[in-house]
Amino acid sequence: MRKVEHIGIAVQNLQAAEELYTQLLGIAPYKRETVEGEGVTTAFFQVGETKIELLEAIRPDSPIARFIEKRGEGIHHVAYEVADIEQEITRLQAEGFTPINEIPKRGADNKLVCFLHPKTTGGTLVELCQEIR
Ligand code: ZN
Repeated sequence: MRKVEHIGIAVQNLQAAEELYTQLLGIAPYKRETVEGEGVTTAFFQVGETKIELLEAIRPDSPIARFIEKRGEGIHHVAYEVADIEQEITRLQAEGFTPINEIPKRGADNKLVCFLHPKTTGGTLVELCQEIR
């Protein structure tokens, strides 16, 4: 894995969270994007080499809505940038990790993504992401 690409934070109200993070980081988000398939709207802040991704549910059955119900707002996942996502999935499966989606899917910010089940990663939802070229 190359670096921590971003940290995903589940929020109840994206507008309010954007304002809070703009104050906290001293910079404005560089984009907002809805990913229908995941049931989320995201906002991205660039912080040095890493990004902060705020995630708000757009429907009650969205994984983000369920996460907030169970655990409240806060850190939802850590995303690592990989050069070749398929190769990395194969490697991690061989190491005993369980992908939630074995086939990479299209995520926000022009990325192919795969999530690893938190049961196999010590409790943290891990995202692998590869830039779509
Ligand atoms: Zn993410």
